[in-house]
Amino acid sequence: MFLDLDRFKEVNDSFGHEMGDKLIQKVAIEIRHQLRDEDTIARFGGDEFAILIHQYHHPHDLIIVVEKILSVFRQAFIFDEIQLFSTCGIGIATFPENGADASTLMKNADAAMYKAKKNGQNRYEFYNHDMTKQAYERVNLERELRYALTHNELEVYYQPQIDMSTQKVLGLEILMRWNHPQRGLISPDQFIPFAEEIGLIVEMDRWAMEVAMKQVYRWQQQGLRPGKLSLNLSLIQLNQVDFLASVQHAIAQSLMVPQDLIFEITETQIMRNPEQATRTLTHLKELGLSLAIDDFGTGHSSLSYLKNFPIDKLKIDQSFVHDMTTDKDDANLVKAIINIAKSLEMDVIAEGVETQDQVEMLINYGCYEAQGFYYSKPLTKTDFEVFLKSH
Ligand code: C2E
Ligand code: MG
Ligand code: MG
Repeated sequence: MFLDLDRFKEVNDSFGHEMGDKLIQKVAIEIRHQLRDEDTIARFGGDEFAILIHQYHHPHDLIIVVEKILSVFRQAFIFDEIQLFSTCGIGIATFPENGADASTLMKNADAAMYKAKKNGQNRYEFYNHDMTKQAYERVNLERELRYALTHNELEVYYQPQIDMSTQKVLGLEILMRWNHPQRGLISPDQFIPFAEEIGLIVEMDRWAMEVAMKQVYRWQQQGLRPGKLSLNLSLIQLNQVDFLASVQHAIAQSLMVPQDLIFEITETQIMRNPEQATRTLTHLKELGLSLAIDDFGTGHSSLSYLKNFPIDKLKIDQSFVHDMTTDKDDANLVKAIINIAKSLEMDVIAEGVETQDQVEMLINYGCYEAQGFYYSKPLTKTDFEVFLKSH
């Protein structure tokens, strides 16, 4: 990163060079406080600093650092009797995308810094304009999503799970939607992965869990028989120390019995840290609820883990179901998954069931539970109630 102070000459001219020197020192110290030990800040000349951020995983990590650096300039620099406000511009170049050696990186960070300065005070730019745009979009999205959570823009949808042989409702899965004031209804694929990255998913899922549990209990009280409630869980949820307590709390508040609850976690997420997942899932199960592996067949489970996981149900990934009537391999995979579930005494449900042919084939293979557009799309609370009453 290349950082250049704005109008530094004016400080020198109006307060003297000694004050200018003090400001440079103070700026350096304050920025240093915002960096990690392994990062480097160096005065490059005049009122310019070069900052080396040692490792980062995603451009978003750089935004976090850059925002921290800019926070230094949002307050006054205080000297004995004088308070000075200063602003700056920051240019960012990343290795190896924007240069393979130090001098290219410096040159490009410098160019980005000029662009930042042209756009105003306390701004930053990536050398690559797409990255700048992406970065702004992410900052924007994060702000909007936090707002959404506290201003009722998120909505819980309910998709029924059906017994294909009797047409009875066996349960429902909770799927989140975002009613964006400008962009309309946004599907979870467009905001859940991001919410996971920034950690906001924890609060979002807790909110959804509470809303859904209360709603399902209400339906139960009305004698509508919604069946079991399935909730999607993110791995970071599992890693939260107070997660179990929050589940217990939500259950107690809603008055639901844990036996009516199923938590879904994707195979990919479990396999990222199987030992830890097993531990937390075991604790969850001790609360009396059931566990399902979501999108089964896509996440490279090892069969030995599968045997040891405290899992009650497999959800066959919709990609296999989608092609099972036209692709023999997919049909065989679906059959194999159903047989694995049976051998391990687990329940099995097919996701993404859209056609009568798929229904017949699945029943033929011994799978009776389905979720998919053939029966119903995910529904709003009101529509789900209508669905329940007509089944
Ligand atoms: P999932 O848990 O595997 O959910 C099933 C997805 O398949 C849903 O997508 C659902 O709308 C879609 N679907 C259902 N039936 C059919 C069908 O017949 N055909 C097709 N093509 N699709 C069908 P959706 O709602 O877009 O959710 C996507 C994913 O986002 C979910 O996959 C889940 O992993 C995640 N997600 C959704 N809501 C939440 C939530 O509240 N919390 C968390 N942590 N994740 C969520
Ligand atoms: Mg799911
Ligand atoms: Mg799924």
